[in-house]
Amino acid sequence: MMAKPKARPVRRQPQRTCIICRSTTDKRRLVRIVRAADGTGVLIDKRGKVPGRGAYLCEQASCWERALHGHVLDRALNTTLSGEALQALSEHALKFMSEPTAVKENSQ
Ligand SMILES: [Zn+2]
Repeated sequence: MMAKPKARPVRRQPQRTCIICRSTTDKRRLVRIVRAADGTGVLIDKRGKVPGRGAYLCEQASCWERALHGHVLDRALNTTLSGEALQALSEHALKFMSEPTAVKENSQ
């Protein structure tokens, strides 16, 4: 274990919790999944600006697997994910699953 540095960080990063593993992480490192308020359905909110009920997933393949194969997302979003939504999420999850040693990239 490393000793914590004495200086406190000045910047406050918003923290969010992964709905699967319950780890609390910097909001920017989590993926927001939102049930759009306008009824579009469930989608991945890359900018964190879509109004609606949201849930966060971290970038671990295991979390995505569990989210896709269980009903945690359904419960978190209080809806039933459509096939389309699940497919979009699966495609997004491939990013983490195919690269266990993920290369960090800042796609903007
Ligand atoms: Zn997680």
